[in-house]
Amino acid sequence: MKTRLNGPFVVPVRDIVRHPGEMREHRFSVALPEQWGEGIVSFAAGSELDLDVRLESVHEGILVSGTADAEYTGVCGRCLTDIAEPVEVEFQELFAYPGEEETDFEVQDDHVDLETLVREAAVLSLPFQPVCQPDCPGLDPTTGERLTEGTRAKEDAPIDPRWGALRQIADQGSAAESRDPENTEES
Ligand SMILES: [Zn+2]
Repeated sequence: MKTRLNGPFVVPVRDIVRHPGEMREHRFSVALPEQWGEGIVSFAAGSELDLDVRLESVHEGILVSGTADAEYTGVCGRCLTDIAEPVEVEFQELFAYPGEEETDFEVQDDHVDLETLVREAAVLSLPFQPVCQPDCPGLDPTTGERLTEGTRAKEDAPIDPRWGALRQIADQGSAAESRDPENTEES
């Protein structure tokens, strides 16, 4: 006798088992019982996963497909700023009826357990090199400080050329003014 299925990802399929052509849809949310993913970004324990699942009864078993909306958190791979990004994960798998052949995904006691399926798809969706923004400048190679938009703007553009032109005009103006009184005195 197999151990009874339990957990937040177990979905009953009793009413469509052995009824090819029948279909059910389930929407439910799961708070992750543990962290998913080992990288610098992951799905945190306790974070919400919104599942939209379609269960189709086919001859060999139950075809499960759907999407999971979740948010991964962690740090930017370049500047180490905290980041949080929503993702939509797609999954599909045939849960076979128990038979002679062992399969990874089986219908058990008129239930399917989606945890492994959703977890694998979710972890695969995590970016290898997450960034806070596509053009994140990263860290200053000498000081190790974060090169944010603000610090970069200061360094790259010390004086706006338009201000330089205005200053020239102002200088000429005051020079002409100071000359004028002399001119009137002399004439
Ligand atoms: Zn960054």
